[in-house]
Amino acid sequence: MAADIGRGKALKKTSGCMPQINCEELNLVSGELSGVALMPKKPSVLMHACCGPCSTSCVERTAADYALTLYYYNPNITDREEYYLRRDTLLHFLDAFNEEHKDMYTVGYVEGAYEPDRFILKASPLADEPEGGKRCDLCFALRLAETARMAKELGMEYFTTTMSVSPHKNYDKIKALGLALEEEMGVKFLDIDFKKKNGFGRSVELSKKYGLYRQNFCGCDFARYAAK
Ligand code: SF4
Repeated sequence: MAADIGRGKALKKTSGCMPQINCEELNLVSGELSGVALMPKKPSVLMHACCGPCSTSCVERTAADYALTLYYYNPNITDREEYYLRRDTLLHFLDAFNEEHKDMYTVGYVEGAYEPDRFILKASPLADEPEGGKRCDLCFALRLAETARMAKELGMEYFTTTMSVSPHKNYDKIKALGLALEEEMGVKFLDIDFKKKNGFGRSVELSKKYGLYRQNFCGCDFARYAAK
């Protein structure tokens, strides 16, 4: 079971085949890889992961081409139990995926701080916004900015997010935020709309394959109770 160890700190080994990641180790691995002529260095990507099911098809699509690390940072999941259930579902998927692909590559994992108060403080004035409205814009911005910041801290080349796999998430908004952060932070935004090429349908298939819990609400209590 992974521990919630706070923003910017390394995650200890979670389970099974999950690697330990921290800045120094990342540099070391990168250095070692670049010294091995038969293993061309893949671009490093910090992929914000909103949950296990959404991550499945995004990871499948990119893991062969990028040195991928997932970043679980979701202060918008205001219910603590739900937050950890989604985190553990993500780790379950990642363990299984890494085991399946252990001869080819390993996807890393870093866990951010759980800070729902940060989200609630910002989002409460927008409590009555519909899903897809201004509260969601703020929510995307909060999670993407933290992902860009962490990517920079880890010395990664790109950042991106699994959020775009959802048909409910507007990719134009995510892309605009990503490109603005690229400019501001000096880390490149990996511009992939994961819902394309049947990304969402594939995430449903893969969630079944790996036996993942699939939530029926986006994340925050504002949306959860509005739907009831
Ligand atoms: S509905 Fe989803 S995207 Fe919108 S604010 Fe809530 S958790 Fe964030």
